[in-house]
Amino acid sequence: MEERKTKQKNALNKISKKLGKFFSAEELHNKCETEGQNIGIATIYRFLKKEAENENLNVFECEGKKIYSRSENEHSHFTCTNCHKKVHLKTPMKIFKELKKQANFTLEAFQIEIAGLCENCISKQAQ
Ligand SMILES: [Zn+2]
Ligand SMILES: [Zn+2]
Repeated sequence: MEERKTKQKNALNKISKKLGKFFSAEELHNKCETEGQNIGIATIYRFLKKEAENENLNVFECEGKKIYSRSENEHSHFTCTNCHKKVHLKTPMKIFKELKKQANFTLEAFQIEIAGLCENCISKQAQ
């Protein structure tokens, strides 16, 4: 039983590294299937929770869903007010340092929400 758990954990670690910078539990689950690993969604949720607790993964809220990242500890959004397209932005940590000057805190999550018109909608308006 323990051996199976370790095997699953190793497989999940490996597979999660093949995903993009940000991934959801569902994406990890789907990737496991395509990799021929039969791992239940409940196991995946447990794995992600544990990894987040151990600070191996950063957790963000994205469109009401939890998403995970190994490398990024900031996750910002640009949302188009016309077509509602969402773009993920890497947040310059310079901003965080500026904010930190104003109050002392430790970083758990850092997310900026920007709204405006996307490239597509700007060019449509120009026509
Ligand atoms: Zn997002
Ligand atoms: Zn748009």
